[in-house]
Amino acid sequence: MDWLDTLLKAGEVARQVRAKVPELVRPGTSLLEIAEQIENMIREYGGTPAFPCNISVDSVAAHYSPPPGDKTILGRNFVAKIDFGVMVDGFIADTAVTVTDTIVGEKLKTAVEDALKAAVKTVASGVRVSAVGAVVQNVLNKYGVKPIRNLTGHEIQRYNLHAGVSIPNISMGDGARLQEGHVYAIEPFATVQEGAGEVVDTKTTTIYRLERPPTTKSSNQEALLLRTIADRFQGLPYSLRWLRDLNPETLALHQKLVKTGRLKSYHVLVEKTDKPVAQAEHTVVVTKEGCAVVT
Ligand code: MN
Ligand code: MN
Repeated sequence: MDWLDTLLKAGEVARQVRAKVPELVRPGTSLLEIAEQIENMIREYGGTPAFPCNISVDSVAAHYSPPPGDKTILGRNFVAKIDFGVMVDGFIADTAVTVTDTIVGEKLKTAVEDALKAAVKTVASGVRVSAVGAVVQNVLNKYGVKPIRNLTGHEIQRYNLHAGVSIPNISMGDGARLQEGHVYAIEPFATVQEGAGEVVDTKTTTIYRLERPPTTKSSNQEALLLRTIADRFQGLPYSLRWLRDLNPETLALHQKLVKTGRLKSYHVLVEKTDKPVAQAEHTVVVTKEGCAVVT
């Protein structure tokens, strides 16, 4: 199989899993259960999770993946963003869907899905990323909702989820252009008109990543832990749920390495004025005339 067939396989798994998401996301269900069911489905269908399944509810916009032992139960009147990635042989399909039981949530969901559709139609080799952002912004404006201006889509490379250029959700950018044969995730986020249209960091972190693999052959505890993480996750984001087998001493060392910055941690991102946020996301491969939607 060439790389495109492999990526299309990852995309097919992502589509199959996404189709099952709405029935899993129900009031009374724990976020932990939802995340683990989705990750298990990815494995059953022939992929591996490229990053921990994100379940970001209401004004939480991104980067919340239930940590081990999370007891959070989904309540009524929710706007949930389910964002997951499927990897096959290092090729990643990144997708997200909003599930909601509120009228405001439905409006936001329709708006981001339409914005994504319009953005996908705009994509072609040589198109400026700012033009894609402008299209997203326009569609969201027509719905009377507000784009989240500091969340973007991104290029994807093999074993590299956030590579190269960013794809804004507003008309901005440095003049970068989409390139034929490159892979991009496009992901409009929106909140209500009264919102700030901006996310801010919280103190909570649930997702981690090893950016620089260990170089020394040293066999001290720290080097051993870093090598375990490097081997297991290949530089991709992970959850502490995926390190459950480590002993308490090693997990304490992990938290120390997070504190010193040796391990990168992703802060949970929340809408600045605490307003609900919706998201839609597809992964595309750019062609000369347009693009192929992988997911
Ligand atoms: Mn995603
Ligand atoms: Mn993404």
